[in-house]
Formats: sequence, structure tokens, C-alpha cells
Amino acid sequence: MTNRVALVTGGNGGIGTEICRQLAAAGYTVVTTCVDAEKERIVDWQRELEGEGVKVGWVECDVSDFASCAAMAEEVVAEYGPIDVLVNAAGITRDAFVHKMNHENWESVISVNLDSVFNVTRQVIEGMRERGFGRVINISSVNGQSGQFGQTNYSAAKAGMHGFTMAVAKEGARKGITANTISPGYIDTAMTAAIPEEVRESIVAQIPAGRMGRPEEIARVVVFLAADDSGYVNGANIPVNGALYTSF
Ligand code: NDP
Repeated sequence: MTNRVALVTGGNGGIGTEICRQLAAAGYTVVTTCVDAEKERIVDWQRELEGEGVKVGWVECDVSDFASCAAMAEEVVAEYGPIDVLVNAAGITRDAFVHKMNHENWESVISVNLDSVFNVTRQVIEGMRERGFGRVINISSVNGQSGQFGQTNYSAAKAGMHGFTMAVAKEGARKGITANTISPGYIDTAMTAAIPEEVRESIVAQIPAGRMGRPEEIARVVVFLAADDSGYVNGANIPVNGALYTSF
């Protein structure tokens, strides 16, 4: 068990919720971000977890906005203490073939999925350097590795995340900081539920495991990477995709 503080962006999402659950079970003080503090959804979500005995705090933050991230990090540190583990899990999709994609959908996906990792990491990295410990875990996607139809924006953002990871890993290695990427395949959450049924079926048919992944299967890798004794795993990309995409 640990008593470290973990910040999970997008912690109330399908994958994020399980990450929060498993980090809390491992002893972390867990805090998540919420885009709109007026939303009753986050309060209900928090209550539901509380009912299971899982305590998770939340702070309002739009991860695509640098100033919002700065204010959020300040609040987290003041209320919960220095952030030891950062999990960048917030993400969106806005799919369209490149010849039909509008600029707004390009920009929003790049900014929520990619700019966000700088926006949030920048707030916590100096403290991690000073304390000589930190874990940055970026949730990318198989589609950042392989490219995907209709997802030039998402594939570019998710591939960019791992470039960021590798550079942070090198910069932080001597300061006790690791940065790693997890690249999930198709995971059963609201994000994939939005895919039309016939497309979902054709995707599952291509997965050697014969099924979509479960959020728990991503969360267990987060807990592994977050651990104090995982310090030599640094700059890695860990695919969790049921063998959908394999590379050396
Ligand atoms: P969800 O749609 O369930 O969750 C996404 C989360 O991101 C939500 O908590 C959402 O908050 C948050 N979010 C969105 N925009 C912002 C923003 N501007 N600022 C702060 N938070 C924001 O997605 P998943 O759980 O499925 O995905 C989680 C991560 O995993 C994403 O990065 C996704 O790209 C990645 N991934 C998912 C896969 C899948 O198959 N599901 C496969 C590969 C990667 P709110 O609910 O308040 O809007």
C-alpha cells in the first residue's frame, strides 16, 4: 500500500473510473478532473464510488486550457498534497475522413488529447523533480500506432503523446521520474459504444482475442507503472490490445 497522491484526468470516463478504483484500492489518494463543475454527473459518479467504499476527489478543469490546468493543479496540491502520479486519460474523438474534416474537429481533438498532456504535465513536473519522484502515464491508443480511417486528428494526437512521453522520460530519468504510454486497443466504454453497431462488429472480428478489452485491463497496467518499484520502466509504450496490432 502507498500513501501517494494520484491525479487522473478524465477519471470519470469509462477507463478513467476503473483507473481511479484500482489506484484507490492500492492506497493512493485519487483526484480527478471534471470539465464542467456544474454537472450533476460528477457528483453522482463520486457518490456511486463512495457507495463502493472508493474515495475520489475532483477538481474542475478543462485539460485543453493551460490556465485552467494551472488553477486545477494548485487546488489539488493545496487540498490533497503534492502530485506524485499523473495519469493523462482525458480524451475525445471527432471522426471524419480527412477530406471531410473541418478545422474545428481537428483542433479540438489535438487540443484535448495532445496539448492537454503538456498543459497538465507542466503543472506537476517541477514538483516531481524537486521531490525526486514522479510517474507520468499517458493513455494513448492503438490507433496512434497504426493509424485509423476517419481519425487523422485522433491518430496524430495519440502518436504525438508517445513522442512527448519519450522526451519526458529522458528528461526525468535522473530525477526519479518515469513517463510511459499505454496504448489500449478497443475497450468497452461509452467511447466505443458510440461506434455504429456494424462497424463495432467488424472491429471485433479483427481482434485476435475475439472481444473488446475491459477498462480493468488498462487500469492494472496503470497501477503497475505507478508503483515505486517500477522505476526502470521508462519511455515505454505498452500496448493492451488483444493482439490487434503487434510490433517489435
Ligand atoms: P470516455 O469518453 O469514457 O472518457 C473520456 C474522459 O475525458 C471523460 O472523463 C471526459 O470528461 C474527459 N474529458 C473530455 N474532454 C475533456 C476536457 N476538455 N477536459 C477535461 N476532461 C475531458 O473515454 P474512455 O474512458 O473510453 O477513454 C479514456 C482514454 O482512453 C481517452 O484518452 C481515449 O482516447 C483513450 N482510449 C480509449 C479507447 C477505448 O476503446 N475506449 C481505446 C484507446 C484509447 P466528461 O465526462 O466530464 O466529459
